[in-house]
Amino acid sequence: MSRCLNCGATRDEDVCASCGLSSSAAEFTLRGKLLNRTAIFLVGAIAFVVASARYPALNLDKILIFIGVLFFLTLGLAMWLEGRALRHLEVEALKRIYYGLIPVPWLLAGLLLGNGVMDNSAPTFQEVRVISKFAMPGPVPNRRLIVNSWREGERVERIPVDRMDFDRFSPGDAVIVNVREGLVGIPWVSGVTRP
Ligand SMILES: [Zn+2]
Repeated sequence: MSRCLNCGATRDEDVCASCGLSSSAAEFTLRGKLLNRTAIFLVGAIAFVVASARYPALNLDKILIFIGVLFFLTLGLAMWLEGRALRHLEVEALKRIYYGLIPVPWLLAGLLLGNGVMDNSAPTFQEVRVISKFAMPGPVPNRRLIVNSWREGERVERIPVDRMDFDRFSPGDAVIVNVREGLVGIPWVSGVTRP
């Protein structure tokens, strides 16, 4: 006795009594669904990266590492699931975990956008000094000013900036970082200025 790959009903024969698909047709349907959901997940990951650049969190790099780990775990799970489907093994539990992970990048993107868009807090101004700069090219370029931290327990802050601000500040310059609290308590950088 095994479970139908399409509808999850237990079955004793090749044709599922519940949805009427043979085991190979059910496998085909499941793999189609997996592909569609994976596409939704991938687009969500892109949406997240774009949203995270709009209202950049102070801890943006930690958030990006988290989403990166989640990204590879989810894709690994998708490959594992597909391998099991090909061999017609039990997939119900894995499938539920996988389907549960699909909306996560979309939810996080919405959270970061809402955190910035609906933030009515007044900015606080932190005067710090640029220690170094860091830029990573790519479809969504990452530019950071590394400055000394004003927060307890942190040595440096990696301030996300746009290209103009990245170019006009050099190591050794004083810079004022405008920090907002965020609607859900994720502090973000609304800009940098000269003292
Ligand atoms: Zn079925």
